[in-house]
Amino acid sequence: MPTEELKESAEQYLMGTYTRQPISIVRGRGTKVYDLEGREYVDFVGGIAVNILGYGHPDLVLAIQKQAAQLLHTSNLYYTEPQVKLAQMLVDHSFADKVFFCNSGAEANEAAIKLARRYSHDKYGAGRFEIITMKQSFHGRTMATLTATGQEKIQKGYEPLLPGFSYVSFNHLSELEEAVTEKTAAIMLEPIQGEGGVHVASRDYLKAVRDLCTQKDILLIFDEVQTGMGRTGTLFAYEQFGVQPDVMTLAKGLGGGVPIGACLATMSAAAAFGPGSHASTFGGNPLACAAALAVFRVLLDGRVLDQARRMGEYLSKGLSECKDCHHLVRDVRGLGLLQGMEIEIDTKAVVSDCLKRGILINATGDHVLRFVPPLIISQPEVDRLLDVLSQIFDRHAAQAVAH
Ligand SMILES: *Cc1c(COP(=O)(O)O)cnc(C)c1O
Repeated sequence: MPTEELKESAEQYLMGTYTRQPISIVRGRGTKVYDLEGREYVDFVGGIAVNILGYGHPDLVLAIQKQAAQLLHTSNLYYTEPQVKLAQMLVDHSFADKVFFCNSGAEANEAAIKLARRYSHDKYGAGRFEIITMKQSFHGRTMATLTATGQEKIQKGYEPLLPGFSYVSFNHLSELEEAVTEKTAAIMLEPIQGEGGVHVASRDYLKAVRDLCTQKDILLIFDEVQTGMGRTGTLFAYEQFGVQPDVMTLAKGLGGGVPIGACLATMSAAAAFGPGSHASTFGGNPLACAAALAVFRVLLDGRVLDQARRMGEYLSKGLSECKDCHHLVRDVRGLGLLQGMEIEIDTKAVVSDCLKRGILINATGDHVLRFVPPLIISQPEVDRLLDVLSQIFDRHAAQAVAH
């Protein structure tokens, strides 16, 4: 279907929840995608931090093909090997002892919220159920997770929200200390706020939050839906802060493009979930788990993580140099291959200029460009992005002078 026609049909048949770029993507290879007209794009969006192995990785494709032919789905009424093996893999390589599988980031956070309430309820009674989250956070779009999300624009019009949530400023310890009460069951945060504009937690802050939680038996939940699976240069972002949570959620990169989410927890937190306490029909589905296992094996082989670490540093350095050369760049922030660039001009124009020059990027909010490419992005591709950004900023600066 021609792109114009596809756009019209999309408007006719799909609910209007998304604003989309005016291209129809038909295939991908490595770090590049191709539109219907055959134009090539270097992808610095990666399906929003999902396609960590890029497109068409042979191990991932083969694992999906084999599992699809063997057993697609059977429910959690029975044992399936891919699910158990994936859980073991996650446990072996993280702080966690137990895993619950679901299908998305929001669902993983739903599980974490339910687990925290149940843990606290069973141990301290019905009155201790509050969860403190951060302003400018993002945890998903279900009723519980949009309530957890500290952004009015995401909550607006969906009132009444779920009771039992309060919000504090990210990276402000005293504000958090004051917000903790005898009703607090959990503190939930992203080590790096992704959707909220790429803000990195400070090491001291996370350490102090960990101590506070340990002292009061408050569960510390890290939402690593975006930062997990090698995004920041280590398997999980928490490793770089020297702090372990009690509960961690994963999704986005976990299946390399196949939908899957996971809620991981320590033995003592996980004990709050017994038979019948939580469930998901598709959760831990053999296809999704086989895909995630393949992704995990590729990551563990080391080269991809090394590449992500090196390219993360290279991208961060390049963006910072770009900031030194262009006055309209206000700030560069991030860790590994999760980088944000705050600019003075409207991000929409920059995103669309990049698209015209064969580069996919996206923006969080009006002023932050976000770069979350596949972890296999190469140095020449980063150079090309930096070059294109530089050209765009030069043109904007020249226009501003002319006016
Ligand atoms: C994307 C994201 C979510 C929501 O994931 P969905 O799969 O869209 O439900 C939750 N938390 C964080 C930190 C995210 O980046």
